[in-house]
Amino acid sequence: MKTIISVISEDNINDEEIKKAGEIIKAGGLVAFPTETVYGLGGDALNPESSKKIYAAKGRPSDNPLIVHIAKKEDLYKIAEDVSENAEAVMDAFWPGPLTLIFKKKSVVPYETTGGLDTVAVRFPVHKVAAEFIKASGGFVAAPSANLSGRPSPTLAKYVIQDMDGRVDMIIDGGNIPIGLESTIVDMTSDSPMILRPGFVSKEMLEEVINQVNVDPTILDSNCKERPKAPGMRYRHYAPKADMLIVRGEAGKVAAEINRLSKEKENCAVICAKEHVHMYEGMTVKNVGSLEDYDEIASNIYRVLRECDDENVSYILSESFSDKGIGAALMNRLIKAAGHNIIDV
Ligand code: AMP
Ligand code: MG
Repeated sequence: MKTIISVISEDNINDEEIKKAGEIIKAGGLVAFPTETVYGLGGDALNPESSKKIYAAKGRPSDNPLIVHIAKKEDLYKIAEDVSENAEAVMDAFWPGPLTLIFKKKSVVPYETTGGLDTVAVRFPVHKVAAEFIKASGGFVAAPSANLSGRPSPTLAKYVIQDMDGRVDMIIDGGNIPIGLESTIVDMTSDSPMILRPGFVSKEMLEEVINQVNVDPTILDSNCKERPKAPGMRYRHYAPKADMLIVRGEAGKVAAEINRLSKEKENCAVICAKEHVHMYEGMTVKNVGSLEDYDEIASNIYRVLRECDDENVSYILSESFSDKGIGAALMNRLIKAAGHNIIDV
């Protein structure tokens, strides 16, 4: 398949190109597009054949449900049942934005989109290109992240092209992605909402709007034996090709251990905070951003993992970060990328 690549930025929306992308979706094709979280791989959420194509293009297991993206809040009620007062409150506070909510699905949503579940995950992105594209596509775009299954999510169009060229009809290059980590997922199907995947909208932010928010216990505990409630969180995900180890502890001790370990291995890279760059020697140093700005670290992490792949790094050693606020999402992705390989020093 020949993939069309089209550059459309938030401050220069090209209506003709958006229309072309929308026509592709309505005809049952696939289009990768930018959102504020990561690039998405879109198809018509109400067309079971489109959802099957998404799974095939990504090589994704078909029991891992897709998120349905909308561009108008009213459209939620066409696909979801039993929208609670709590759900209304969080939507008022965080939509449009990087928050996915799970509801009981209406029959119009095919099981191919929900991985066989009776629930549907819905998100209303704030990114202008995403919003215009969704409207042009008929209003309901199923989209997982636009990477091959198991690879780090793409935050730059060049990584979408790397994984999806020849597998989709069109890629919209919307430049750099602002947040760089996938949306927070909250299950709203019971009276006590539960975070199934941490993201930019943190537990603390949600609890300013609704009383108590639980967190799926499997998210941060690397020894937890329970099964994660979001099917996608069960797979090894977000992973670079290299083996990876996270070293946790006081900065000086962490640096000493990483420097020591790097001498035992060929072709190592360290992922570290800007403030610690000077502590490392004899290996590739990936500065992921300042400890003063966790949003910056979160937005850089997938790019840095992808760069390690491009540079054929064979062993990645990473510093550990705080798990407060967006740090919870950052550490969740980092721990998964490392296949739960962590040591304390
Ligand atoms: P991605 O699209 O790659 O960001 O992955 C979507 C995530 O949403 C996966 O972890 C899915 O398991 C999760 N998800 C989607 N729909 C549901 C649902 N109905 N119930 C629970 N998790 C869901
Ligand atoms: Mg994904």
